[in-house]
Amino acid sequence: MLDNIDAVNLQDLDAAHHFHPFTDHKDLHARGVRVITSAEGVFLHDAKGNKILDAMAGLWCVAAGYGRSELVEAAAKQMTKLPYYNTFFKTTNEPAVMLATKLAQIAPEGMNHAFFACSGSEAVDSALRTARVYWQTLGKPQKKIIIGREYGYHGSTTLGASAGGMVDMHRQAGDMPNFRHILPPYWYGKGGQMSPEEFGIYAARQLEAKIKELGAENVAAFIGEPIQGAGGVIIPPETYWPEVNRICKENDILLIADEVICGFGRTGKMFGSDYFGIKPDMMTLAKGITSGYLPLSAVMLHDRVAEVMINDAGEYYHGFTYSGHPVSCAVALKNIEILENEKLVAGAAAKGETLRAKLAEALADNPIVGEIRGVGLIGAIELTADKRTRKFFEKNGRVGGICRDFCFANGVIMRAVRDTMVFSPPLTINDDEIDMMVELAKKSIGQTYDAVKSEVAS
Ligand SMILES: *Cc1c(COP(=O)(O)O)cnc(C)c1O
Repeated sequence: MLDNIDAVNLQDLDAAHHFHPFTDHKDLHARGVRVITSAEGVFLHDAKGNKILDAMAGLWCVAAGYGRSELVEAAAKQMTKLPYYNTFFKTTNEPAVMLATKLAQIAPEGMNHAFFACSGSEAVDSALRTARVYWQTLGKPQKKIIIGREYGYHGSTTLGASAGGMVDMHRQAGDMPNFRHILPPYWYGKGGQMSPEEFGIYAARQLEAKIKELGAENVAAFIGEPIQGAGGVIIPPETYWPEVNRICKENDILLIADEVICGFGRTGKMFGSDYFGIKPDMMTLAKGITSGYLPLSAVMLHDRVAEVMINDAGEYYHGFTYSGHPVSCAVALKNIEILENEKLVAGAAAKGETLRAKLAEALADNPIVGEIRGVGLIGAIELTADKRTRKFFEKNGRVGGICRDFCFANGVIMRAVRDTMVFSPPLTINDDEIDMMVELAKKSIGQTYDAVKSEVAS
């Protein structure tokens, strides 16, 4: 039946029956959905025969690139041997054990236990529930409040969306009680006249002020992405995380690093916590853990937390049917082996530098490029109406949308967050592909400038 379904049919059927995540359906149906048919390396193919450079690695996840037969074989082998069994009833399976062991090996010092789930949202949800169980067990049940940040993204479950700082998500579906949000360490957008270093301290001290206001005896945890991805690749000044470490420690607040994007090499270190020197009590992992080939996530517990949870908490009333799924875990193990064998983590650091240098050169004369920033292979380009004053365009998000559409039409996928173009290509991207990405970005941002010229300060 599927053989003779062509792209047009799929578009119609999609419009008729498929309800999409994060989509304005009226707008989608007016334009027609794009059907992705196959992929290899850093390239996607669509049903119209276009070849597109995926500078987003899917949704930040396809670290090892598309078309990796090793991952396919690892899945097939495990599916044949044991496709599924749960890890609830005093049972385990080899891939889950070996992956937990491997994660303990590569995670920062003291992170020795992994709890498995299927998505980043579930990992965040699990970490937040664990934080509350932890404080309850220690006889401090009133420590319940979770502090997150504006523009933070921690997934789409109700707890994850509440911890995140995406106002549209809160507005539409409501957020839970006992969540608060502070200023993000977004120097370009919020730093005013401060230097980035000053602003890093200033932004971290917003946490201290918020804890004081709420009372440390009421606060369970602070959650933050090492680099805020979906919020616009917000890279904190280097003064920020050391100050947050200090504040959490002094106030006896758990620190949760949401490594769903930064984990597995994106920053040029295995974890964002390694890059910034974050001292987390828990880390949430997903996306790059399997390069997106199968759904999987994990919460890593520091010994401090694990000892309380194991020795004193009794039964942990939490878990998922697919926690420790053997096939997902087998694929994750093979994926981490690829990252290590091909030295993709160190490679991300070097390639990121090359990419940013080339972007800086190619975009130097474009008046709407306000800042190019990045760490490893995650980065952003700020589009601005006035470079000197870091002034944004009217109707934030409009110019970003124009640029994203030019990118798509030219054959490169970058995402627009407000008027910030963000990118995170597969870690396997090679020199020629970096050149191609830079050329296509230059062309697309050039066309964007032509389209909005009249609004740009001269
Ligand atoms: C994507 C993301 C999540 C949510 O992951 P899902 O797998 O979509 O549930 C959580 N945190 C961060 C930092 C993310 O980027």
